[in-house]
Amino acid sequence: MKLNIVVPCYNEEAVLQETTKQLSALIDELIAKGKIKTCNLVYVDDGSRDATWTLIEQLQQQNKYVHGIKLAHNVGHQFALWAGLEYSADKCDAIISIDADLQDDITVIEQMVDAYKDGCDVVFGVRKERKTDTRFKRWTALGFYSLMQKMGVNIVYNHADFRLTSQRATKELMLYPERNMFIRGMVKLLGYKTAEVYYDRKERFAGESKYPLSKMLNFAVDGITSFSVQPLRVITTFGLIVTLLSMVAAIYALVSHLCGNTVVGWTSMLISIWFIGGAILLSLGVIGEYIGKIYREVKRRPRYHIEKTV
Ligand code: UDP
Ligand code: MG
Repeated sequence: MKLNIVVPCYNEEAVLQETTKQLSALIDELIAKGKIKTCNLVYVDDGSRDATWTLIEQLQQQNKYVHGIKLAHNVGHQFALWAGLEYSADKCDAIISIDADLQDDITVIEQMVDAYKDGCDVVFGVRKERKTDTRFKRWTALGFYSLMQKMGVNIVYNHADFRLTSQRATKELMLYPERNMFIRGMVKLLGYKTAEVYYDRKERFAGESKYPLSKMLNFAVDGITSFSVQPLRVITTFGLIVTLLSMVAAIYALVSHLCGNTVVGWTSMLISIWFIGGAILLSLGVIGEYIGKIYREVKRRPRYHIEKTV
């Protein structure tokens, strides 16, 4: 079988050399074992500002497996990955996507290939534990997955974008027209036979995380609002509760009025005005988030622009 490994890279000059070394060693091994026939290593440079592209060009000269795609500007991990998948879709039998920093254990790639040969179209790489992540990263990541689950987004727990998709699955995935992409959720929608392989997540061996808290939060909001209308329902429920409460408040106000002590109440007025105001703004914000999504979808803009490929 022909395999492609897609690696999105954003400012990864510190890791690419080592990544290429490790991955090509693995490819050699897999070929020697007869598990695969050939393999392309597709680096997608997501508009890096450092020497990443020059490095990819060099690696492409030295290493027979390496291919490079240079995107014209930074479009973010999901779009960069998409560019690599689209590029590979008709060039191979299966595609593995993995991050450039090799935090995901590349030795399970062999198991992924085995699962593919057993007839699975999608194989998820799942992290067993996160010993090496900082406590903060661990908590935020766990919070992320449980929030997603509560909001009704069906994703594989502790699976990032380390996964194998068959050519068929990739081509079907490419048919999804949305621009607000949360690929790990979309892959689940395909419905093909899936498998999971487990590994321990390692530390980034060089460079720093390109996913600071702000990006992670954005990613979580995107993931939820691209897949679920649960937040809109929450608003409706909340509105109902407040309406019911306001009836109670009305009765209370009337009774107080009839009893003749209506001067008091300034505090409760003030509090409720602020509270209702806040609730309305929040609800508008959530609705606005969805309208923003619709706005972006209807424009049908291209996901990325390729500057050159090697
Ligand atoms: N990445 C990208 N574009 C971006 C940000 C990140 O292509 O705008 C790539 C990055 O080079 C890496 C992968 O996405 O290969 C995951 O990023 P990182 O390892 O920094 O995230 P973390 O593992 O800390 O969540
Ligand atoms: Mg990483």
